[in-house]
Order: sequence, then structure tokens, then C-alpha cells
Amino acid sequence: MASIEMRNIVKKYGDGFPAVNDVSLDIADGEFVILVGPSGCGKSTLLRMIVGLEDITSGDMVIGGKRVNDKAPRDRNLSMVFQNYALYPHLSVFENIAFPLRLAKLPDDEVRRRVNEAADVLELHEHLERKPANLSGGQRQRVAMGRAIVRQAEAFLFDEPLSNLDAKLRGQMRTEISRLQRRLGITTVYVTHDQTEAMTLGDRVAVLRKGVLQQVASPRELYEQPVNLFVAGFIGSPPMNFLPATLDGTRLSTPFGPIDMAGRKGAEKLQGKELLLVGIRPEYFEDASLVDPAKRDVGTTFRAPVDVTEWLGDQQYAYIPFEAPEAVRTQLRDLSRELDSDQLRTQAIVSIDATSRLREGREAEFWLDTRKVHVFDPATGENLT
Ligand code: ATP
Repeated sequence: MASIEMRNIVKKYGDGFPAVNDVSLDIADGEFVILVGPSGCGKSTLLRMIVGLEDITSGDMVIGGKRVNDKAPRDRNLSMVFQNYALYPHLSVFENIAFPLRLAKLPDDEVRRRVNEAADVLELHEHLERKPANLSGGQRQRVAMGRAIVRQAEAFLFDEPLSNLDAKLRGQMRTEISRLQRRLGITTVYVTHDQTEAMTLGDRVAVLRKGVLQQVASPRELYEQPVNLFVAGFIGSPPMNFLPATLDGTRLSTPFGPIDMAGRKGAEKLQGKELLLVGIRPEYFEDASLVDPAKRDVGTTFRAPVDVTEWLGDQQYAYIPFEAPEAVRTQLRDLSRELDSDQLRTQAIVSIDATSRLREGREAEFWLDTRKVHVFDPATGENLT
């Protein structure tokens, strides 16, 4: 097993914009790190540079303490698990797992010993004589990992391994991969564009955008302390609401009422900025009638019309329009290259208790936990709080 250190990694295809732009990231021995970001952000390119399938334009790739920029993939001793697991259909599970050992011409008894060890860990003993076609998706995944274990690879690298599967199987496989990685403790880098995978699998998540690393943090920290508008909008479902706000002294005026920022973390950074964006996750809202009176005062209560409701069993979403003058929205649009037009909507999504009796077309009273609200600089996208 090994650590993976990336130092100022750049990848340029031709003379275009770098696909990976000055990425530095340290992955500890045994750590499980997810690379996530929208299509084209460079996550697969970065993974392929770790494995050696792609040349590095500049920067250093250090695996297990050794610079590997000029090493061929086979000399890096990493194991890549692809979407289709790349199992040989005509070979038994045993021979699929044994494949790299046969290539290395290991003696028969050594092959048997190592395959049996892997089968123990992966609970594959009773399937060793089967062909891949007769296995479930989860079992195939384990065989693919078995092949990596017998090779005693330094790290596992996954490139969207679950994207071809249906939602139910994807959920099962997620649990399986997570369980195996914990058990084996092998350094793992996993690429996905699926934020559920990103948030549930890894020790840490690295968010990429247009080749640039935005934030590397635990899932919880990403969710609670996104460093900028991009991460805030990318992580979380339904997404964070962004609303215009103006600053007067220490008070923010927002479409849902005033928020006093005095004494709050980052309050000093707001000074001198007139127009800001407040970021409110849907679950920061509650039905005001259900809020414990003791905590009412720490937030703000407001009335709003309910446009549409969606009932999900354990909670419900409501879409509530808010007032934002066109001039302010135009100003924001000009100021903020970070927000897309979809994020500058004039309605917020709120997620509240399923028992709350909201009626479409009627007004309702909501409570907002203002302690949790984020404040962003629209010009830079930075989270100031
Ligand atoms: P996806 O989730 O869609 O696979 P990604 O985040 O993995 O996207 P990459 O495949 O790493 O993104 O691509 C990053 C950028 O590099 C994209 O703009 C892509 O078009 C470009 N790119 C990737 N491979 C090549 C190539 N061989 N030649 C030229 N450009 C490439």
C-alpha cells in the first residue's frame, strides 16, 4: 500500500485550456478519496495520470514516496477497476482472480494460496468455479477487487464503476465497496460525478471544476462549510438556495427578512460590500408552527406563498417565490460569473416536516435558522462566513 502525492499537476491536451490545472493533493496510505465534479472537469484525466495512462504535462506524481512520472503503468503496481470490471467471460472466478499471478508465472501452489486468501476476504469461496456470467453485479465487483488484492497492488483506482447500474444495485454496490475498502485498508481513489457516491463513500472528497481543485474535505465539512458558490451549489440535493442580500451595518436584508450578522464568523469580511448572496439549504427552513418556541428567536419568521409542494413521505418540499428586484438580479448576473441563471431563480426550495399542512396557492409561515446561513461574495464566489 502507498500514499499518493500530487504536486502542481498540469495536463494540457494540445495548446488548449488545461484539462487539469495545478492540482496538488496528498492522499494518505489507506485513505479513500473521491474525485468529483461535473462532466469535463478533469477527474478522469487526473485518475489516468495517477495510473500512468496519460502523460503529465508538468508537476510531480509521487506514489509510495517515489516519483513515477516516467514509469509505465505496469511498473506503478496500481489496480484500476473499470465500469465493466473487465472480467474474462470464459474463465472461472478462480482463474479471473489468478490472472495477474499467471501472467507473472508464479508457481501453482503460490497462485492457489493467494487466490484462496483473497476469496476468504471477499467471501467468494463458493463461487470460485463459476463463470462471471453466473454472478450478480456485486459478486463481479468482488472478483475485480480480488484480482487487485492478489496482485498486492499499492492502490485501487475506480473510474465511475457504478454508472452503468440501476439505482438499486448501485446502492448495494456502494455499500459493498465501502465495506471492502475499510476491511482491506487499501489506498483508494474513486472518480464519480454522482454526489451521493461522493458523500457516502470517501474519507475525503476532492471537488474539481474546470481542471481546478476547489476544496478537499470530509463529506460533512463540504456540506457544512463549502468554500465557494460552486461547491455550495454542487453538493446537496435539492441544491442550496441563493438569494440576493444587501448589507446595512451588520444587518443583511434578504427577501425572507433581516439577518443580523454581528458577532458571526466572517462578519468582518462583509464590511464594505453592498450586494451579497445568501446561501440557504432547503432544510434550514421549518414550518413556523412546528418550531420549538424556545429557539424561535435565534432565527427569523416570515410569511410566503406556497407555489408547489412535493410530498416525499418523511419530508416535503415546497417552492416559495420571493421578491428580488430585477435591477438587483441584473447587477448580480453582471457581478457573478460563478452563478448560472438556474441558480438565480426567484423561488426557494424548502424542505420541511411531512406532517406540516401546507396548501398550494396559500400563504404559510416559515422559520429560517439564520445561524446556518452562508454569505457569499458574488464577485469572487468566496464563502465569507
Ligand atoms: P466526464 O465525467 O464527462 O468523464 P471528466 O471530469 O472525467 O468528465 P475528463 O475526461 O478528464 O473529464 O476531461 C477533461 C477535459 O479534457 C475535457 O474538456 C475533455 O474534453 C478534455 N479531454 C479529455 N481527453 C482528451 C483528449 N484525449 N484530447 C483532448 N482533450 C481531451
